[in-house]
Amino acid sequence: MNSDTIAAIATFPGNAGINIIRISGDGALEIAEKIFVKNGSKTEGSKLKPRYLHYGHITDQDNKVIDEVLLSYMKGPGTYTREDVVEINCHGGIISAKKILETVLFHGCRPAERGEFTKRAFLNGRIDLTQAEAVIDIINSKTDSSHAISVNHLEGRLSREINEIIEKIMQILANIEVNIDFPEYDEDQITISMAREFCSEVLVKINKLIETADTGKIFKEGIKTVILGKPNVGKSSLMNFLLNENRAIVTEIPGTTRDTIEEYVNIKGVPLRIIDTAGIRDTDDAVEKIGVEKALSKVGEADLVMMIFDSSRELEEEDEKILDYIREKKTIFIKNKTDLETRLDLSGQKEIESEVINISVARNQGLDEIMEKISSMFFQGTINLDSQLIINNARHKSLLVNAKRNLEEVLKSIDNDMTIDFVEIDLKEAMENLGLIVGKSVSDDLVDKIFNEFCIGK
Ligand code: GDP
Repeated sequence: MNSDTIAAIATFPGNAGINIIRISGDGALEIAEKIFVKNGSKTEGSKLKPRYLHYGHITDQDNKVIDEVLLSYMKGPGTYTREDVVEINCHGGIISAKKILETVLFHGCRPAERGEFTKRAFLNGRIDLTQAEAVIDIINSKTDSSHAISVNHLEGRLSREINEIIEKIMQILANIEVNIDFPEYDEDQITISMAREFCSEVLVKINKLIETADTGKIFKEGIKTVILGKPNVGKSSLMNFLLNENRAIVTEIPGTTRDTIEEYVNIKGVPLRIIDTAGIRDTDDAVEKIGVEKALSKVGEADLVMMIFDSSRELEEEDEKILDYIREKKTIFIKNKTDLETRLDLSGQKEIESEVINISVARNQGLDEIMEKISSMFFQGTINLDSQLIINNARHKSLLVNAKRNLEEVLKSIDNDMTIDFVEIDLKEAMENLGLIVGKSVSDDLVDKIFNEFCIGK
């Protein structure tokens, strides 16, 4: 167990009701008692009762009261980190929490690194790596659906599935080892046919998981969408409609000016991540109105393009330029302003004509069809997020793909009558790849990398 004690503000300091300072490690209680005053008396050395909410005050090095607080002490190992944990609830705002943290640090612990509480939960065996990764995904969830997928992982459902597969592979390996060590006790053929059967079974399970990864990515990251069309076709009107109905969250991408803004739109549980909305929304801005160049520059990274035509205007060079640009992209073609007299002729573009969706944002017509189209483009059949296990982490997916390749090699070796040691090598590799998903024998570097994505105090 880690012996050094760490502390951090676990809440988001600002104008909120409370803030929580969290301390974890062998020294947690001792430090807390040095600064906690209850019923007017210092609690140093008093061994505060565990799992109680104690009312009192925190004082600084000069015994000056910093704030009125509620303090809890939870003795390890039945805690989040499996270590002794103290949590101090103080008033909200920036100053109280910051001062209390400074005092705690003064008394002999160090600031926690990003995700270090959860990292300790992992290193001390309370949760495995998929569960730790689920914690960060829950924090970062933008929609109910991505939250539901991650909660499933936190509950350990993915870990159970992976561990069951690992156990199956171990059974095959055990049989093979008996066969190698005591060839007289087993018959090659029985081991081989069992290996084939088990491997095929395991491959079905792994393939099923891999197949969910695209859906998982969409729910986690949103469908990166660019809305394109020459000026005045109704991009901003459509955008506003989507936002008014379904706005989820706005994010400004760090390090850029306000001209790259993303909006998450939650459509029937499907998150759309509409990029470069600044260019679309600034309708009063003459410069933004002029070209489509800027939006086009975003097409490369998009999963989906919504290309809007103006039904009341003829097809123009600018439309064709956009069409040229997006040929390779998943695109929804939309004809807006169908409430006006039609001048647009798409008969020269048969494919587009056959699938274009007619809408009028002004009259609120045809918009549901866009939603349905998105749904059918990205999801086959219905997805039950509560019961279905969905891979939403690129690391998990790539390890599953590696394990799949290993097992396919096993089957190939069997079919080619290779010696049993060949089979064994690939089986072991498959097992290692799957083990890495749940965090068995992962490198320190990888662990550091994963937890670095967390926020401080988690
Ligand atoms: P953008 O330049 O592509 O973002 O286009 P806007 O959304 O700013 O729309 C340009 C103009 O078309 C505005 O005056 C809108 O009110 C109008 N408009 C948008 N959608 C419709 C529609 O369905 N019918 C009609 N008649 N006008 C529309």
